[in-house]
Amino acid sequence: MENLDIRSLYIEELTQELKAIGLPAFRAKQIYEWLHVKLAENYDDMTNLSKDLRTVLSDKFPFTILEEVDALHSETDGTIKYLFRLKDDRVIESVLMKYHHGNSVCISSQVGCRMGCKFCASTIGGKERDLLPSEMLDQIYRIQALSGERVSNVVIMGTGEPLDNYDNLMRFLKILTDAQGLNISARNITVSTCGIPDRIRAFAKEGMPITLALSLHAPNNEVRKQLMPVAAKYDLKEVMDAFEYYYEMTGRRLTFEYSLVEGINDEEEHAKELSKLVKGLNCHVNLIPVNPIKERNYKKSNNKKIQNFKNILEKNRINVTIRREMGADIDAACGQLRKSYIDKNSV
Ligand code: SAH
Repeated sequence: MENLDIRSLYIEELTQELKAIGLPAFRAKQIYEWLHVKLAENYDDMTNLSKDLRTVLSDKFPFTILEEVDALHSETDGTIKYLFRLKDDRVIESVLMKYHHGNSVCISSQVGCRMGCKFCASTIGGKERDLLPSEMLDQIYRIQALSGERVSNVVIMGTGEPLDNYDNLMRFLKILTDAQGLNISARNITVSTCGIPDRIRAFAKEGMPITLALSLHAPNNEVRKQLMPVAAKYDLKEVMDAFEYYYEMTGRRLTFEYSLVEGINDEEEHAKELSKLVKGLNCHVNLIPVNPIKERNYKKSNNKKIQNFKNILEKNRINVTIRREMGADIDAACGQLRKSYIDKNSV
């Protein structure tokens, strides 16, 4: 049988597991704190446990941490992009972004992705596997340990579709926001999805005030289908209804992500149609100039077009910002670093 993944357990479950080998509850508390607050790399770090106990634990519940393979530092804005190796030798990427309001980490939720968005590097090799809760947590833990920076915000916007790895995502979010763990406020967490209606509805019922971002990228289903295969499966109306339901249940302002792709979704008529689509919603639109990847022929809209697009939304009194391109000098678009690593290392 596979070993139990001790770092994916809730404290209550950990307490039970340790009780089964004769350990009292206060030990579970200490160990949980080592794992999730003091960010231990191994049992030998846990200096308030006896050597014998550390040996027992490492036999019974072995764990390994993510291994840093590479870290790229942006010259322009301090962004650091990390490439981590998992236990099974696969690699994932995560990003640390430094803002005035605090440090934000962008994590991956899967190894690869099966959603197939046309402009995205993460989806080219398909999905290899889901990430475990501990592997999602560890991206934040290692970045905090390696950079010496305190992480206050987390965005699940790296490689993968988080709602396609639903149970692991929920467990990850509950441990991340646990007062006895790293205790990151749910209000400082954003989950980004390509839009899977039944999962959005389930997520709405979890009772966590997390910001949900919808990767919209088009004002209607026809244009959306050109960029996102998922639009062929779920009609935009169905996705928007689920998204509104998320607002009703959580009261969290909705975020729309809209990557501007030259000649596809960046015309004035698209901006007008988008204004109509989101009018009346408590929402924010993030315009992202698409980051071209070499495998595809998509181009970034020019600045004038982007500005014009924004002006039309503003005229319609839609909250809108053009997303700053963090770390553009270090392959910061979703999946690019991982993809170039895999290309370089495969024969
Ligand atoms: N699967 C989730 C989260 C990961 S992608 C989702 O679809 O939201 C995070 C965001 O980056 C999404 O809005 C995605 O569409 C966008 N994105 C991916 N590749 C991009 C690129 N090359 N240029 C601009 N935005 C991109």
